[in-house]
Amino acid sequence: VRAVGPARHVTARVAPLGSRLVLALVEDRTRERRVEAVRRDFVANVSHELKTPVGAIRLLSEAVHEAADDPEAVKRFANRMLTESDRLSRLVQQVIELSRLQGDDPPDSPAPVPLDHVIEVAIDTSAIDAASKRISIVSSGTRGLQVLGSDEQITAAVANLVANAVAYSEPDSTVLVATKQTDGVVEISVVDQGIGIPNREIDRIFERFYRVDPARHRSTGGTGLGLSIVKHVAATHGGDIRVWSAEGQGSTFTLTLPHHSFNGIAGRTYQEES
Ligand code: ADP
Repeated sequence: VRAVGPARHVTARVAPLGSRLVLALVEDRTRERRVEAVRRDFVANVSHELKTPVGAIRLLSEAVHEAADDPEAVKRFANRMLTESDRLSRLVQQVIELSRLQGDDPPDSPAPVPLDHVIEVAIDTSAIDAASKRISIVSSGTRGLQVLGSDEQITAAVANLVANAVAYSEPDSTVLVATKQTDGVVEISVVDQGIGIPNREIDRIFERFYRVDPARHRSTGGTGLGLSIVKHVAATHGGDIRVWSAEGQGSTFTLTLPHHSFNGIAGRTYQEES
């Protein structure tokens, strides 16, 4: 086996053991290097993303000092500091979530996860943001469904989808969270009537830190990590995540997970508004 780069020293060491083993080691080593490169890239991205809110908070605190005699200005700067520190804590929380999902730790032992509760918590998490834009979040579909996995991770995934639906919707619109069971799988769809995603961007939105034209929605204070968390949760649970979107019309994100049946209890159809 003649190999280049990372393979070279592995080849020299183990060549006598046979080319198949060498190839396996070469592949392993290449994979290790790729993982290492991804990690380095991630750390660089995180550091870069942390700089923005940290820098803003620093500048704003200087501004507060300088505007000490102008209570209105102090209030304005303090509010912006609050927004930036919220963004900072969201970023830190999502980085922790993502590194846990990508880490080598064994996953939590899977347990039955009741989707009704997951959806209730996910909707609650966005309730304040939704109310401030007079957006109603409606849930419909099959009740009583269960999947097998981590309650915390599945809730985080659905909560991210609901939070995005609210963040990228105009005021006075509706967000729908619908559940359905087909062929051994459960589908959770989050449907919005929001700004939508341009066709050319749709393949990239699941990448870490990728945001569609950040200037378009700077006010949402997003991190670009939410959908990579959803993608990881889907993958680790043997499911997937799909998206349909049309600019100016809205988006539908559908998370599919293997269904976990219990005692043959059938779901029932419902519609509720929060
Ligand atoms: P962010 O924290 O920026 O929302 P995400 O990873 O959750 O990061 O989403 C990546 C990008 O995909 C967002 O910045 C946004 O441009 C786009 N996006 C996600 N969900 C929606 C949605 N429901 N409607 C329109 N655009 C969306």
